[in-house]
Amino acid sequence: MSEKTVFEKSIPGRIGVALPEPDVPPTRVPCDLLRADNGLPELSQSDVSRHYLRLSQRNYGIDNGFYPLGSCTMKYNPRICETVATYPSFLRSHPLLALADVQGNLELMFGLQECLREIGGFDAVSLQPSAGAHGELSGLLMMRAYHDDRNEGTRTQILVPDSAHGTNPASVAMAGLSLTEIPTDRGGNIDLQALGAACGSDVAGLMLTNPNTLGLFEQQVEEVIRLVHDCGAVVYGDGANMNALTGIMRPGDLGIDIMHYNLHKTFASPHGGGGPGSGPIGASADLAPYLPGPLVSDAVGDDPASRYELSTPKRSIGRVSTFFGNFGMMVRAYAYILHHGPEGLRANAEHAVLNANYLRVQLQKAFQVPFDRTCMHEFVCEGDAKQAGVRAIDVCKRLLDFGFHPPTNYFPLIVREALMIEPTETESLQTLDAFIAAMLQIAQEAETAPELLSSAPHLTPVRRLDEVKAARKQNFGDLGR
Ligand SMILES: *Cc1c(COP(=O)(O)O)cnc(C)c1O
Repeated sequence: MSEKTVFEKSIPGRIGVALPEPDVPPTRVPCDLLRADNGLPELSQSDVSRHYLRLSQRNYGIDNGFYPLGSCTMKYNPRICETVATYPSFLRSHPLLALADVQGNLELMFGLQECLREIGGFDAVSLQPSAGAHGELSGLLMMRAYHDDRNEGTRTQILVPDSAHGTNPASVAMAGLSLTEIPTDRGGNIDLQALGAACGSDVAGLMLTNPNTLGLFEQQVEEVIRLVHDCGAVVYGDGANMNALTGIMRPGDLGIDIMHYNLHKTFASPHGGGGPGSGPIGASADLAPYLPGPLVSDAVGDDPASRYELSTPKRSIGRVSTFFGNFGMMVRAYAYILHHGPEGLRANAEHAVLNANYLRVQLQKAFQVPFDRTCMHEFVCEGDAKQAGVRAIDVCKRLLDFGFHPPTNYFPLIVREALMIEPTETESLQTLDAFIAAMLQIAQEAETAPELLSSAPHLTPVRRLDEVKAARKQNFGDLGR
């Protein structure tokens, strides 16, 4: 039977609910609300629950196995965070309740702001943005407002390294600013000469990812920040890689002016499937007046009904989310931070870096690592296993047969056939060793039986997809080759 016939389960006349006899007089449904052609599937309860369970089993997630998707930090989410987020007092609080009735929620938000402020070394934190990219946009709008206030609205250039995540240039465009790309030097750092040449009176700011998307710490980060500040511009930190730094180094101490955190990466709220996420931003004293509001502030006084209130910074760019942002994500992240404590967060970062370096050294036996130095929480190798003809995509597809989610591939753009591998701290030595064994076996196959790779995957419910069709035509019954 083809996928398609299995997928269509509707049987005319079958129903999944048994409604009680009505105990109120029947009323006519207005005719214009009745449609004969709505095509709703007719199914029993067991048909529906089996259908969705089957689909969920075809999905791959961090709860099924290793998920080394570089840049995304797919780490295990401790169940305690989920449990706390489902407490009815959090789950059921309506965003329009009076502030006096949600003091506990506000206390949690205040606590999270304070923790993030301390972790990042900033003056203030706004929990408004709903994703990293949303934090970037907010930060760039703050930069614009800051320069406008200083009568420097002619600063419209944003410098972005060529290794940056795609959201960086996209955010620049959305903020109505212009992009200048800065190349990476041979050591995997921002090219200081090119940066110096680009810095001028038209520059609004630099977007800096540190460690960068090669998984490398910017070796001259202080010089980078000095060059940008000396030309009167602002440094935006892309904090998606904070999982490597938490508890070890504070970006605010380095001189970064604004930075987003990805709660759904570093602080283990669930990640993937398009949300909901949360991307709070921190800012230095100079930029904090522009943060999107409202923030939660700790009012003077002991009245438990008004201890916490909302406040909007003086020169705020305004709201960037409805109500309070994605509150459920804040609950999970706060639970995670309190659960681990300062030592635990630091140990996580150290362990993430150790795991990445272990993989890097082991996989170098078969895969070229172009910027070859100690990495942070991830690293990038060339995925064609030193074999002409076998591509990174083939290695990724073959990994599926071994039960592993593939690494991020073909990003960053500056490494050919890139595989970007991030193991995270939540994986054991045994899991890492199993992944290494699979990768080395695949490298071997690339030499001895390359057709095993080019025709992979062989063991998944759906075989290799036509990637263009998969994005455009989402009835997966039509997609198998
Ligand atoms: C994930 C990521 C982003 C974007 O964050 P989202 O929450 O997915 O919008 C930006 N930069 C880097 C380096 C990232 O890894």
